[in-house]
Amino acid sequence: MRTVELPSGARMPAYGIGTWRMGENPRRRKDEADIVRLALDLGCRLIDTAEMYGNGGAELFIGDALEGRRRDEIYLVSKVYPHNATRRGTVEACERSLKRLRVERLDLYLLHWRGGAALAETAEAFHRLRDAGKIGDFGVSNFDTDDMTEWGRLDRDLTGANQVMYNLARRGAEFDLQPLLRRRRIPLMAYSPLDQASGLLRHAAVRSVAQRHGATPAQVVLAWLLRQPDVVVIPKSSGTERTRENWGALNVVLTQADADELERAFPAPRRKQALDMS
Ligand code: NDP
Repeated sequence: MRTVELPSGARMPAYGIGTWRMGENPRRRKDEADIVRLALDLGCRLIDTAEMYGNGGAELFIGDALEGRRRDEIYLVSKVYPHNATRRGTVEACERSLKRLRVERLDLYLLHWRGGAALAETAEAFHRLRDAGKIGDFGVSNFDTDDMTEWGRLDRDLTGANQVMYNLARRGAEFDLQPLLRRRRIPLMAYSPLDQASGLLRHAAVRSVAQRHGATPAQVVLAWLLRQPDVVVIPKSSGTERTRENWGALNVVLTQADADELERAFPAPRRKQALDMS
């Protein structure tokens, strides 16, 4: 599995699974844990979650799936709710996440989006958690360039990642956010990489490239993101077939002609666009 380097020197797998809108129904807990187990068996090594997902329910079934697995082979990402992201609240929220996941440490802990808490307090809590060994790296999510610049003054240049909505149909981040992240060597984690199964997967250009490769539209849009060495994808599926299908994107290597065709259908932004948020 290709990995992406964080400013700390740690490495994160370029492909992971998302878990939003899972963990919401306790009766599905076993099936959802089975999806994570399947992904791990396929070779997937990154799991993205948040205290928000299923109100902690996603972390619970991930904890089930991690039972009996080697913790050091799995890269775990979770996120703190903005309303918990105070000096003390961040530490307590992280401890609750660790308990639900039944692990000692998260590899990456993100501020889910900017809310009312002072960024300086969140940054201080992240440093405390890191110094205590409870998280490996910390970072942010849904931070556009202004927030990123402000955050950059607080984080002593150690931000592990910025997780934002980014896919072929939503390329706004490329205008000035991605260049800023690249200058600071901060990986971009692309959430909603399938654009939440929107019209993107039915678009003629995506379908035509898919056909040429004997691949599916979902595999093509993931492969397009995976061409970029500092982008991490975290598609979500609650089904076994699609979990396999999405993983198969790693075997789809797009040509320059494919990339050109997709570029014509989904041109890069020519001016600043506010970051999309789901
Ligand atoms: P995705 O772009 O991953 O799309 C998920 C949707 O696509 C689901 O409805 C899923 O349905 C469907 N799907 C999955 N695979 C396929 C396929 N091969 N073909 C057709 N449809 C498919 O959207 P998400 O918004 O879930 O983003 C991914 C992850 O990113 C989240 O789960 C979460 O971990 C993270 N995220 C982070 C956010 C943040 O603020 N930091 C915000 C949003 C997401 P089904 O499950 O039925 O297969």
